[in-house]
Amino acid sequence: MTLKKQETSLLLSGRAKKYSQGAVNPIIQRTSSVIFDSVAQKREATKKRAKGTLFYGRRGTTTHFALQEALTELEQGAGCALFPSGAAAITQSILAFVEQGSHILVTGSAYDPTQNFCDQILRKFSVTTTYFDPLIGKEISQLLRPETKIVFLESPGSITMEIHDLQGIVNSVRQYNPEIIIMIDNTWAAGLLLKPLTLGVDISIQSATKYINGHSDGMLGFAVANERCWEQLRENTYLLGQCVDPDTAYMTARGLRTLPVRMKQHEQSALEVARWLKQHPLVDNVYHPALASCLGHEYFQRDFSGSNGLFSFSLKKILTPEEFAHFLDNFSLFKMAFSWGGFESLILGYQPNDIKAMRQYETQPTFTGTLFRIHIGLENVDDLIEDLEQAFLRIS
Ligand SMILES: *Cc1c(COP(=O)(O)O)cnc(C)c1O
Repeated sequence: MTLKKQETSLLLSGRAKKYSQGAVNPIIQRTSSVIFDSVAQKREATKKRAKGTLFYGRRGTTTHFALQEALTELEQGAGCALFPSGAAAITQSILAFVEQGSHILVTGSAYDPTQNFCDQILRKFSVTTTYFDPLIGKEISQLLRPETKIVFLESPGSITMEIHDLQGIVNSVRQYNPEIIIMIDNTWAAGLLLKPLTLGVDISIQSATKYINGHSDGMLGFAVANERCWEQLRENTYLLGQCVDPDTAYMTARGLRTLPVRMKQHEQSALEVARWLKQHPLVDNVYHPALASCLGHEYFQRDFSGSNGLFSFSLKKILTPEEFAHFLDNFSLFKMAFSWGGFESLILGYQPNDIKAMRQYETQPTFTGTLFRIHIGLENVDDLIEDLEQAFLRIS
């Protein structure tokens, strides 16, 4: 059988009969204890406990195995570890590969809680972090040290949306020391728009809370590792006691079925809104990976297969606190909230100093105006543009 297209494989993945027992979807199996019929069976289960065999609730039930299989296929890895949130997936994956005295390199555009973990938790164990310019590319070689264990990427970067020269970074790191583990926060691409493991990355991490769930009603994180990292990631995940409830695992698998079709609509509407914003007289720049005005756009064109509903734009001026509140408080469709990737449109605002506080590298971008990050949901795009138009009228 030839390799199936993405939409088709996402409908089929994790739906083997052993998971669904004849139903369309995997069954939700809730258990803590697993009952063994004999000493021999217990011995066998203990031997296989990491390989999709029932052993104990914390190590997963068939509902989890079904999801892990589907996510492993999505990210084209050797195995998938599940976590109660995206933040947990990031912190535990990093923890699994450092020791006292290690050095790690983290993109300066990383999700804020990722940076907080490095600064507040890793530091306590004498693991040092160097933040780098997300546009550093192959020059990352200058920051590598003999004790560097991990290079942690995120592309596009949170809020400012810079795209890494992924291939330049991977080649440079491999040349210096092939043992270094390269990880990426692949939440923006949802495993659909970028396949990091096929480009030499070792571990792809996601918050499935975002596009994979797609309905803003569940939290789950995961990390898919390649062959060389899988065993260490899996064993450390177990040692740290990570587990996910089967109901959320089920909901996450359910989200996979409609992911490509939702993503196409998010992409189409977001591009329309981005182009509308680009020509607006109050807008300075639009940071949408598919537009040339986004930093690293050429790497987006080379490595990604498409875009989604999340991007940012900056204004020419800094809004006064009153204007800032007036702009954000009175939307009818765009809601102010953290997270994104659900069916609904969202907006958050940042002043230049807010961004500065999040960027710990020397060559950080300077913004002259207020920045907004928006998520374009599945509402009709004309309604969304009208909502934005009203907001601009409130500040002009
Ligand atoms: C939301 C998010 C996370 C954290 O995921 P949670 O499931 O909310 O813990 C990590 N990385 C990125 C890029 C995110 O947007």
